[in-house]
Amino acid sequence: MPAETTQRKDELARNLRRAERRVAAACEAAGRPPQEVTLIAVTKTRPAADVRLLAELGVRDVGENRDQEAAPKAALCAGLPLRWHFIGQLQTNKARSVVSYADSVHSVDRLRLVDALARAVAQSDRAHRPLGCLVQVALDVQQSGGRRGGAAPEEVEEIAAAIVEAPGLRLDGLMTVAPQDGPYMDRPRAAFERVAEIGARLRTLHPAATALSAGMTGDLEAAVAAGATHVRLGGAVLGERA
Ligand SMILES: *Cc1c(COP(=O)(O)O)cnc(C)c1O
Repeated sequence: MPAETTQRKDELARNLRRAERRVAAACEAAGRPPQEVTLIAVTKTRPAADVRLLAELGVRDVGENRDQEAAPKAALCAGLPLRWHFIGQLQTNKARSVVSYADSVHSVDRLRLVDALARAVAQSDRAHRPLGCLVQVALDVQQSGGRRGGAAPEEVEEIAAAIVEAPGLRLDGLMTVAPQDGPYMDRPRAAFERVAEIGARLRTLHPAATALSAGMTGDLEAAVAAGATHVRLGGAVLGERA
């Protein structure tokens, strides 16, 4: 291995260990078993070479937020034992591409996108392998005008029902990003608890929808305290983005 690659691998290994310790400490503080929380390494803006090194270090879950970037990267990493989580705002015309490599989409926030994903799965060669779907909830959708993606809380049940109805899609749970606006601004713990409540209500209708994807590098402790099952870590694992 070239010296630079070895150096980068060591750096990623250190970051990863530190991030895993942070998640474990957050679980311990919350009285939760650490196996309940999956660490997703968010590799956006990073090269396929980093993804490959992470796979060698035992990472199995990676997250990407732009199809234009993720599709070629996933192709370069074909054959590695990875699950690809699509976590960014998704246009319906990208659904076909995304279902060709993604195991799950965390950012399902409207009925039209459910339809597009279902159609894309039906036309793909993965028809027997369902696409995991999480409904993205935005608690600041009124203030942000929906610019950052996410459904309003009152829309969640209808979108979830459409996912359950759609052949080829599987309802896994909810995703959220700490609000940058509105009543939950600067209160990530309260925001994550609110979304966890919405998830608990959803499970009275759909008991298998157990996932709560919440928490990034800056707020993973608050998310784990609120019950997150998936944390999406970019900077903590890959280093801060330029
Ligand atoms: C970039 C991104 C992350 C990771 O953010 P960090 O602060 O680097 O951990 C998580 N979730 C989404 C939706 C993102 O776009």
